[in-house]
Amino acid sequence: MGEHALPGTPPVPLRLRKSARARRISLRISQLDGRVTLTYPTGVPESEALSFARTKEGWIRQHLQGRPDMATVQFGQVIPIEGKTRRIVPATGRRVLLDADEVAVPKGAEARRLARYLKELARDRLTGACDDYAAILGRSYTTLSLRDTRSRWGSCSSHGGLMFSWRLILAPPDVLHYVAAHEVAHLAEMNHSPAFWAQVEKIFGPYQSPRRWLRDNGAELHRYRFDTEPS
Ligand SMILES: [Zn+2]
Repeated sequence: MGEHALPGTPPVPLRLRKSARARRISLRISQLDGRVTLTYPTGVPESEALSFARTKEGWIRQHLQGRPDMATVQFGQVIPIEGKTRRIVPATGRRVLLDADEVAVPKGAEARRLARYLKELARDRLTGACDDYAAILGRSYTTLSLRDTRSRWGSCSSHGGLMFSWRLILAPPDVLHYVAAHEVAHLAEMNHSPAFWAQVEKIFGPYQSPRRWLRDNGAELHRYRFDTEPS
């Protein structure tokens, strides 16, 4: 999968996907995060696919503009952290500082610094939650990893490895805790049977409200684009 961009203001990142099954060149804009994928058949040169994308530039930009929900992480932008909206402001010192309604980030590569800070915070909170729930359940997990997954908020492997989306740190704390409890409960029940949900209830308590929050608002957490990430 290659990374390219349509030049212009702003440049539009393009993901190139060569496909043996594709019959023609096509463009797709993700509903979830607005990323643009250009798919082309194996026999078609990349240059031809790119010139096709250029002919569709107006359409692409129009489509992206029709997504008022996308937000680039930069100074002045607001972002929820642990469910509370904070304005991103330049820091005077060298560290990221979180307070009640602001997050101060040192200047220079601020999007990347903030992403790194949020991942550390996510790891801290998720590790704490998983340790607590695993202790109540009487099971242990092997590893805890973070990714920027688009399709799921967490997973639990048959080897006891837990994986989470670090964007959960943007959600209210009870939502992050619910996802932690959900994945930990899979250490006992590798399914979504009534027995599994009984374990979730046992270690977390009533889970309907955070579960519903995630279903209704989860896509919101993907609004924020940290432009230094591969997108
Ligand atoms: Zn599950």
